[in-house]
Amino acid sequence: MGNIPTRPADGVEADPRCGRAWCPYCADALEYVWDAALRIARCPGCGVSTRDFHVMNANGFWNEALKERFDAGVKRSRRTWVKGQGRMRSQRVLWLPAPPDPGPD
Ligand SMILES: [Zn+2]
Repeated sequence: MGNIPTRPADGVEADPRCGRAWCPYCADALEYVWDAALRIARCPGCGVSTRDFHVMNANGFWNEALKERFDAGVKRSRRTWVKGQGRMRSQRVLWLPAPPDPGPD
């Protein structure tokens, strides 16, 4: 596992009614929370948003209608994102650029 985004466990699907979706970074299905400042749903564990490429892949959020229903469900749940919550630091490690190749010289 580590920093490699993981696939949903078998049978796990995004549930727009309660705002629960798979988080590929936490490797768990979690009840997402609403970030009112940015108007996005985030994973409560690591803070990744539903606009993240791997979150969209894992949950089928390329389907715009599903994603809108999901965001609405999270908003309706009144679970809110608290700034500084989550493990954003460990998540950033995933996206650090590879160190430059020193080359054959
Ligand atoms: Zn997460």
